[in-house]
Amino acid sequence: MPTVALNNGITMPQIGFGVFRIPDDDTERTVLQAIECGYRSIDTASLYGNERGVGRAVAGCGLPREDLFVTTKLWNDDQGRRRAKDAFHASLKRLGLDYVDLYLIHWPKPSRNLYVETWELLEELYGAGLTRAIGVSNFQPNHLDALIAQGEVVPAINQIELHPLLQQRSVRRYDANHGIVTVAWSPLGQANSIEDPVIGAIAKRHDRTPAQIILRWHLQLGTVVIPKSVRPSRMRQNLDILTFSLDAEDLAAIDRLDTGVRFGPDPDEQDTGRKTGFSSSDGRWTAGAD
Ligand code: NDP
Repeated sequence: MPTVALNNGITMPQIGFGVFRIPDDDTERTVLQAIECGYRSIDTASLYGNERGVGRAVAGCGLPREDLFVTTKLWNDDQGRRRAKDAFHASLKRLGLDYVDLYLIHWPKPSRNLYVETWELLEELYGAGLTRAIGVSNFQPNHLDALIAQGEVVPAINQIELHPLLQQRSVRRYDANHGIVTVAWSPLGQANSIEDPVIGAIAKRHDRTPAQIILRWHLQLGTVVIPKSVRPSRMRQNLDILTFSLDAEDLAAIDRLDTGVRFGPDPDEQDTGRKTGFSSSDGRWTAGAD
């Protein structure tokens, strides 16, 4: 498993396993299958409602805790020093852990203007050894500028929507220039990327699946990926991307697929509460009532 070094010296597997939209009751079994397939990094969030299932899998998988890399995230409603502290400890309790490897602010939610204060709390959790690294998700360069100017710790990670149809060049450049590792969420870009004919042609040439081509592209960019699948055959397929590589022509063809169009919300506008999420019917984001 390739790893990336974070800005505080700890390492993170470059391929992890995402658990968004896996019901808590199915999560323990699914994460155990993923660990069995070889995943060592699990990406959950308070929002996903399945931290308990992740925790049960971590406890029951038979591996030493230090062999696993567990990420969870602070939901928007819990921003602000006091609520964030309680929310972190509630996540830790649901996970059944005494520390996490990575704790992220899920969205900047700029309309609340609490993300700098929230970051200061994350710095305290990090200082207390309750999380081995801290970072953010869905932060744009202007949000990161504020954290870097006012905080003491530079985020280790920025987890953003990133796939061939949304290549996020300026955010990736900003992250790289500041020593922040970019993690790609929805790395497969949902069906639209997987079914793209250009990806299909490259897959055919390499005798690989389209998902493998997309994940290999991410690896060659240097980003961390956290694909989700409830099917062990796909879990294995998504890990089996280390024994081939894309050439300059393949990479150039994928570069040209960037549309700049998001499937998820715009971080500058995302301003909804806990009910926000992908709708199960079409896989697109829907705004919650609150
Ligand atoms: P992905 O890009 O991982 O795609 C998941 C979808 O692709 C599922 O429908 C899955 O179906 C299917 N799939 C997986 N592997 C294959 C394959 N080899 N061939 C064909 N289809 C495949 O999208 P997600 O939105 O789940 O993102 C991944 C993770 O990113 C999440 O689980 C979560 O951890 C994180 N995330 C973070 C966000 C944030 O705001 N920070 C927002 C959204 C996600 P099936 O399960 O049936 O195999």
